[in-house]
Parts: sequence; structure tokens; C-alpha cells
Amino acid sequence: MVLSVSEWASAGQAHLVRDEAAGLEGIIVLHSTALGPAAGGCRVWSYDSADAMAADAFRLAEGMTYKNALAGLPLGGGKSVLRRPEGAFDRRRFFRAFGAAVEELKGSYVTAEDVGTSVDDMRAVAEATRHVAGLPPQDGRPGGDPSPWTARGTFLSMQVAVERYLGRALKDVTVAVQGVGHVGEALAMMLHAAGAKLVVADVASASVDRVVAATGARAVPVEDILSVEADVFAPCALGAILSAETIGSLKARVVCGAANNQLATAEDGARLADKGVLYAPDYVVNGGGIINVAAEYLGWSTADAVARVEATGERLGRVLDLAAAEGLPTNLAADQLARSIVAGGPALERDAA
Ligand code: NAD
Repeated sequence: MVLSVSEWASAGQAHLVRDEAAGLEGIIVLHSTALGPAAGGCRVWSYDSADAMAADAFRLAEGMTYKNALAGLPLGGGKSVLRRPEGAFDRRRFFRAFGAAVEELKGSYVTAEDVGTSVDDMRAVAEATRHVAGLPPQDGRPGGDPSPWTARGTFLSMQVAVERYLGRALKDVTVAVQGVGHVGEALAMMLHAAGAKLVVADVASASVDRVVAATGARAVPVEDILSVEADVFAPCALGAILSAETIGSLKARVVCGAANNQLATAEDGARLADKGVLYAPDYVVNGGGIINVAAEYLGWSTADAVARVEATGERLGRVLDLAAAEGLPTNLAADQLARSIVAGGPALERDAA
């Protein structure tokens, strides 16, 4: 195995997974188990190198530690990242083999969907382990696709950010949504219902067409969405889209979206603040999905899960308060709060289940 994970060793525990017959190659990272089992989804993606795959896994796992802590969940942070096999592959066999790897970790890692995986894939995982969520909901209990919950938390966060920073309601703003996949489409529908004007872009034209037909959104080419005239930029595609190169052309004064790891580097948080842009930290905003996953895995009721998702805007408000009080960029304020919770400090949540 030529995976140079040693440089990452201080950032958490890495478990390499491989089953050649099933076409499985990947890495499971347990960034922290301080608050409970390391929980975080399974991403299937094409990577140029094993190092790139490992780097993504560690970055995402760390984000999960902070996301779960800020959402007040009794969960640590982890992530699995699997290399997408070239060409067609037997998904059931692939995910059953992944499930066997998860089972070997004896519950210290809990998986669920992420980019490139579906509810059906998690059903295959569940054939080999019970440490999986995102399965079809049963008897009205939490479960299934976490995206609508993520979209709801993002929507509530945007409401808070727009009210606090622009002094306006969502019906009076234009939101540019980058990526109208599972979360982006659901978010666009909620924003449309709230009266916001929408500009959308996606590499998948069928998704754009659907959202345009349902909401009257204006479609723009993917390369224009970040610099389009809008009050809010909502990244709902992939990460690292806010960088020294792109921030200069951003027109929106609020960034609030569901994508993980939106900032290319932590310094980009300061870059946005210096430009007068309010950045709603991604992992504070997009915790709705993992709340649903946690509720399913831990056996909470739907009412418990809903209450926690509905508190997402309030949690963002607490982070913005700290940032204002300490003169910190919002991403650093969120990191500071999350680290203090992981270290045993009080949770943000007042209505913990
Ligand atoms: P998805 O794959 O359903 O949607 C992503 C969309 O982005 C797709 O429609 C894709 O075509 C589009 N896209 C890809 N590259 C693009 C580009 N350059 N420009 C514009 N569009 C592009 O994924 P999703 O589940 O909707 O998740 C979206 C983001 O939110 C991801 O970053 C994911 O990690 C994050 N997230 C999702 C959840 C969840 O519950 N699904 C939870 C937390 C975070």
C-alpha cells in the first residue's frame, strides 16, 4: 500500500480499506471520538492520487468533528472516502465490502451518505454492519436522505444571516445558488416559497431546467455564478470555491450555503471579512443532515431531530455573536467554539435531546 498517511497521523486515526475483488479502495478517518463515535458520511469520488484521497478524508473528518460538536451531538468526527472504480461496478458488492470494513471498527465509526452515495448504497452497507444511518425511514422515525434536513438548516441560517447583516427578509433578496443537486434544489424551493429571487447554476443542465421551471430562477453559466449580482451566494456544490482568486469577484455580501469546506484556506475567512462579506461557516449551517443521521442512529424521535434542526439559525447567531465580540472572522469563531465543546466546554444547544 503506497499511501503516505504518516504526515496526517497527528490529525487522527486512519484506516485503509481495500477489497480488490469488490473494487474497493479507500480510507476511513476517525478525527475525534472525544464526544462519541466518529460519525460522518461516505464519499465516493475519483481522485488523482492516494494522497489527494487521504487529504480529502482528513479535512472532511475534522470538519465533521466541529460540525457534530456545534450541533450538540454526542458524536465525534469521521469520514470515509472511497475511490470511485473506473467504469461500471457492482455497487452492492462494493458497499457490502465497505460495510465489512466499518464493522471491523466496532462502532467507533458510523457512516451515512455523502457525495457519490445513496440510500440504496447504505442499504448494502447495512448488510455488513449496523453502524450505518441514512437508511429508509421506518415507522415515521428519522432516516433516509438527509438532504432536505440540510437544506432546512441552511435556509434557517440564511434567514438569520440576511436579517442580521443586511437588515432584510428573504423575500427582499436575490440568492445565487451554486449547484442545484439534492440540497441545492431543496434550498431553492424553500427560498422561492419565502419569496426570494433566485439565480442558479449547475453543470447538470437537467437539474437547472427543473429548478428554473419550478421557481422561475434565472440560470447562468457555472463560471458566472460566483460573480453574479446577488445579495447572497449559496455554495451547494463542491468545496474550496472561496479562495484568493475568487473572493475578489464575489458580489454578494452574505455567503451561506450547504457545501462542505467552502473556504480554500482558513485565511479566506479573513479575506471575506475584510471585504465586508458575512461568511456563515459551512459546518454550522449544514448540520441538518448529520442531525437526522444522529437521530436515526441513536434512536431519537423525529420531534427531537426537528427541534435540533430548527435551532440551526440560533446556533449560527451564537457563532456570529462570538465573532463580533472577539473581532474574529466567523470561521475562526466557529472553530474556537467547536474546539471548546470537544474539550469538554458547554454545548451551544439549550434544547439538547
Ligand atoms: P449533489 O451531488 O446532489 O449536488 C451537487 C450538485 O452540484 C450537483 O447537481 C452537481 O451537478 C453540481 N455541481 C458540481 N460541480 C459544479 C460546479 N462546478 N458548478 C455548479 N454546480 C456543480 O450533492 P448534495 O447532497 O446536494 O450536496 C451538496 C454539497 O453540500 C456538498 O458539498 C456536500 O458535501 C454538502 N453537504 C450535503 C449534505 C446532505 O445532506 N446531502 C449535508 C452536508 C453537506
